[in-house]
Amino acid sequence: MSKLNLPSPEVMYRAVVDRDPAFEGIFFVAVATTGIFCRPTCRVRTPKRENVEFFASASEALHAGYRPCRRCRPLEHGRDAPPLVAQLLAAVEAEPARRLRDADLTRQGIDPSTARRAFKRYCGMTFHAYHRARRMGLALAGVRQGKSMLDLQLDHGFESGSGFRGAFNRLLGTAPSRARNVDCFYARWIETPLGPMLALADDRGLALLEFVDRRGLERELQSLQRKLGRRILPGVHPHLAQTEAELQAYFSGRSLHFATPIALGGSQFQHAVWRALLEIPPGTTRSYAEVAATVGRPAAVRAVGRANGDNRLCIIVPCHRVIGADGTLTGYGGGLWRKQWLLAHERAHAAVPGQLALDVELHDHAIAALAAD
Ligand SMILES: [Zn+2]
Repeated sequence: MSKLNLPSPEVMYRAVVDRDPAFEGIFFVAVATTGIFCRPTCRVRTPKRENVEFFASASEALHAGYRPCRRCRPLEHGRDAPPLVAQLLAAVEAEPARRLRDADLTRQGIDPSTARRAFKRYCGMTFHAYHRARRMGLALAGVRQGKSMLDLQLDHGFESGSGFRGAFNRLLGTAPSRARNVDCFYARWIETPLGPMLALADDRGLALLEFVDRRGLERELQSLQRKLGRRILPGVHPHLAQTEAELQAYFSGRSLHFATPIALGGSQFQHAVWRALLEIPPGTTRSYAEVAATVGRPAAVRAVGRANGDNRLCIIVPCHRVIGADGTLTGYGGGLWRKQWLLAHERAHAAVPGQLALDVELHDHAIAALAAD
């Protein structure tokens, strides 16, 4: 079940306040200030509205960096966990960032294969998937808190960057030595004035560029991995290096153009919309209706809006240059403040010498449109 199918946040928060058993299994509630997620009926103190986040599944809460509550045990379907499962969960929480090997479990008197079967039966997911989601969530949470790779490395007790990268690779389930033979995306976190971005690329081109705090990023990553059957490994790739250099030039205002090869993917219609977005010059905007006309589907304004929102190559495929017909900014996955910033930045830097006269003309048009909000 995706977040789209959840009840409204108001309804879910009311259910939490009332500890309404009717919502048991419908959603999970996570509390940012404690880092814990619960069933809607948990009897811990009612969290403040501004601190809660809702998830459709325990797995999503784990991927977002939350740990299961010890009181209401959201992983355990209302039954008491068998001692083996409780032991496994305790072993993870003793050092959640560390990898647990079979030998570690055996040393703690846990038979690994019996424990795994019990875990799968009671928690509905494999122990491996649970632990990986827990660790991935922790690392992503660290990145979101603005921690540098160096800080993350130190947090996880590594003396060298290569040791940390190695551990990170193991976290993603592939030995670095074998990574070469595995179909994978290489990932790089890139600092920008608007916050850190995550970039994914393979030999075909850049496949994803998103702000790390974008809502639903974990799910997007999961579906990307599932759909394309690829793993994501932190790593080095020429397309990532080029993206980083071009982003630096973009944010400094030196150049608003990108030449890194991109892998658009998507359906034929999405592809057409994204291609149309690439044709919108920096410093200018289009309405959804204008983009719909460009792709030859003038009636498909809403579908264009959806395809615009499904764009995975933030900034490079400039979905931020599409605004409402009345000049309002409408929505943006990375947050409206970022859309506003990007458009203002491009207006300030687009009209450089050598730019086409047409650009300048469209630029003025854009300013007039934006002045309306
Ligand atoms: Zn709880």
